[in-house]
Amino acid sequence: MATMRAEELRVQGALALLRHAHAHPGVTRAEAAASLGLSSGSATEIMGRLRAARLLGERASAPTGGRGRPSTVLVPHPEGPLVAVVELTHATWTVTTAAIGGELAPAPVHRHRGGPPGEVLAEVGAALEGLRARAGDRLAAVGVALPGTVRGHTVVQAATLRWRDVDLSGLAASAGGLPLTVGNDASLAGVAEALRGAARGVPVALHLTVEVGIGGVLLVGGGPVLGATGAGGEFGHVPFGDPGLRCPCGAAGCWDIMVDGRAMARSLGRADPEDPRAFAGEVLAAARAGDGPARAAVTEAADALGRGIGALLNALDPAVVTLGGLGADLLEVAGDTISAAVRRAAMAWRRRDGLLGLPPVVPAELGSRGPSIGAAESALAAVLADLTRERVTRR
Ligand SMILES: [Zn+2]
Repeated sequence: MATMRAEELRVQGALALLRHAHAHPGVTRAEAAASLGLSSGSATEIMGRLRAARLLGERASAPTGGRGRPSTVLVPHPEGPLVAVVELTHATWTVTTAAIGGELAPAPVHRHRGGPPGEVLAEVGAALEGLRARAGDRLAAVGVALPGTVRGHTVVQAATLRWRDVDLSGLAASAGGLPLTVGNDASLAGVAEALRGAARGVPVALHLTVEVGIGGVLLVGGGPVLGATGAGGEFGHVPFGDPGLRCPCGAAGCWDIMVDGRAMARSLGRADPEDPRAFAGEVLAAARAGDGPARAAVTEAADALGRGIGALLNALDPAVVTLGGLGADLLEVAGDTISAAVRRAAMAWRRRDGLLGLPPVVPAELGSRGPSIGAAESALAAVLADLTRERVTRR
């Protein structure tokens, strides 16, 4: 009994140091020990165990000029675990890896033709098989980010990919039967912002990504609130829009189609664009250059975005709102319009200044890497505790 308890304490100590190093890349052993309330001797002992378990390594830290022995920086073990990270967009796919510490390895972006799901999944599966062959046992899990509504391993609906009820379990098989996590790209970008970006350390944050339509997530204590089946966070399909307009999701009046390239095309009297994201980029560029009609279309989209944010503040009461993708561009080009619309939609008491007033609406820090960083975090979170338990108790 006493032995079991001592062993459990060893696992918990190792996991605490590992999680701290993962959350704070570049942290020194001395800093980590201080944050966790460990003596220098305990930190050294735990670190020895994590090194032997091929989870963490150390490198010399740059001299600080201070007194005392220089500490070392905690780094991922050179033979440590990796997770495969798959990101799908409406037009591209990438497969890369992340290690403890969350850094993504550079990887090429491949275009897909928007064909049937089997086609693009076969390409992604082949890339995962190749990765498995190269990384071998180091590969520990697979995390997927994509623009769709996800329940478990199934994409129930992805309008921009034209997917319905697509099971992604086969991707786990391609990687040798590893644990698989699948998430909505905007929700995962929010997870990334909460852990490593503009919402870091914020108790309750709202993240919204505008690309084609709008997605997001409420983050409480750094974790996503995704509902009973993981399909929550579809803020784009709340009817903040024109009830006379039908959304590709099947509902009427969605916010989704009021804030992106499709909305800008309507403002400009143009047909529905083939690639609404690219079209929005062109309109933004024209607006930046001073083009009047483009400016008006951008203002209209920014106004719709702000109105919905104001409504969500009333409902969810976040301490900060982070905006990614086109949302960050709109904030830059038409921030005043967004602010004014937020204020108009917010309840009167929120318009007072001060602690209880309107929370800041800020650009997401991680940009287009958000979904992949979030997918890596999600996959690592799924396996880190088990890996530590297995490897630390074995010795
Ligand atoms: Zn909709």
